[in-house]
Amino acid sequence: MATPAKRPHLLFFPFPVQGHVTPAFQLASLLHRFHGFDVTFVHTDYNRRRVLRARGADALAGSPGFRFVAVPDGLPASDEVAAQDMAALLLSLPALVPHFKELVLSDELLAASTASCCLVSDVVPVQRAAKEIGLPCVTFWTSSANSFMACCQFPQLAAKGLVPLKDTEQLKNGYLESTVVDWVPGMPKMRLKDFPSFIRTTDPDDAIFAMAASIAESHRTVPSAVIFHTLDELESQVLRAMSAILPPIYAIGPLPLLLRQAAGDDDPAFVDASGSTSLSKENRACLDWLDGKRAKSVLFASFGSIVKLTDEQLVELAWGLANSGHDFLWVIRSDQQQKQPVLPPEFLAETEGRGCVTSWCPQQAVLRHGAVGAFLTHCGWNSMLESLSAGVPLLCWPGGADQQTNSWLACTEWRLGVEIGEDPRREEVELAIRQVMGGDVGEQLRRSATEWKEKAALATRPGGSSSVNLERLVNEVLSTER
Ligand code: UDP
Repeated sequence: MATPAKRPHLLFFPFPVQGHVTPAFQLASLLHRFHGFDVTFVHTDYNRRRVLRARGADALAGSPGFRFVAVPDGLPASDEVAAQDMAALLLSLPALVPHFKELVLSDELLAASTASCCLVSDVVPVQRAAKEIGLPCVTFWTSSANSFMACCQFPQLAAKGLVPLKDTEQLKNGYLESTVVDWVPGMPKMRLKDFPSFIRTTDPDDAIFAMAASIAESHRTVPSAVIFHTLDELESQVLRAMSAILPPIYAIGPLPLLLRQAAGDDDPAFVDASGSTSLSKENRACLDWLDGKRAKSVLFASFGSIVKLTDEQLVELAWGLANSGHDFLWVIRSDQQQKQPVLPPEFLAETEGRGCVTSWCPQQAVLRHGAVGAFLTHCGWNSMLESLSAGVPLLCWPGGADQQTNSWLACTEWRLGVEIGEDPRREEVELAIRQVMGGDVGEQLRRSATEWKEKAALATRPGGSSSVNLERLVNEVLSTER
């Protein structure tokens, strides 16, 4: 009897937060289901526990040729740590390396297939370890190509004396807004304010700044290709400029649309299951609540899985929402909700029936719902792509990390959104909501949003840029890494 042909194996090891795990899972599902790869998908123990709590054991059961494994991360088992401190998490990544090596070398399946396996990861210490043990690897960068390019400029920003900041006063006195940086390849008219927030330090030895500053070098030398979760049309200038400094790059996205395209209408359950791998329990009742609302009448407000607003910001936002007169669906994560309620009882009474507050929602389905008119977002990259794919305009309130750059892109390059001030009062929130939900500005934003939605749909159809890039990735890189 002929032995069945051995299938190529991909080992996915995403940076262990929601915004990286979700797109990694989408890409893994696409490559497994439609391109013939077996997949081992690595969670950290902490995230494994979260998936079990949120979605039960079935969510980690896998399927033939697709399995989940977990490695220790040393994080507490407590339910309370629903969101992690990004800086602490970044600094703890090297601690994963021994567990990763042990996994690859002692796991029967992986040890047998090291030569026919490829690591897909955005965790640099893990990529370096893979190289050491002879495991080929590619980067999957889950944020914008623009944010990658912006980080690549950190050494020059430091060499020109623009950063680190002289003192924290510079954050308040307009220095970031007034300092123009006009020499970044593919990124015209940037201000220091638009760079990833890691520049906002006064410490010349800041470890996160140093880590971001080294990304060009790390990704130039370690992986054999870099996949960006984006589409050519969205970030063409930067992608072109990036080709000069990186190994071959592939712009592939938006992944939820590629999954829908590939599965067609035949298998909605597969598309739903692969679309998100939520680490928190979703409240699907908010979709029923939206069903009762008029088309484009609801503002959706959500700040992703990590950003935390202060109590004062929550209260200002609450009154901004109430005073705007618009209906709203607002996600306030459970780790953001205090033991003492922050939202004033008067706000809750005044907005009863008009507002729905939930701790975690099926965001992609919410954005696709016809009742949603605009999205007040922290500008996490997945949220931006999900909104763009659904043709929903943005009200941008960037929190930190890459979000400043993403907000700049949406507002100045794509004309898909408007940005709110860094620490807005209720009047500013109210005005901004009125702007994006109606009037001339809202109208203009909706037109742009519809155009972008069509471009994203085209890119993911057969022959579209992202579909072609996915085929190229499979043929030029993943199938030859053996
Ligand atoms: N998300 C969700 N339900 C929510 C809030 C967020 O499913 O109530 C998902 C959202 O669809 C996105 C991810 O969580 O895919 C957040 O990733 P993003 O890059 O936007 O932000 P991050 O959490 O990394 O800051």
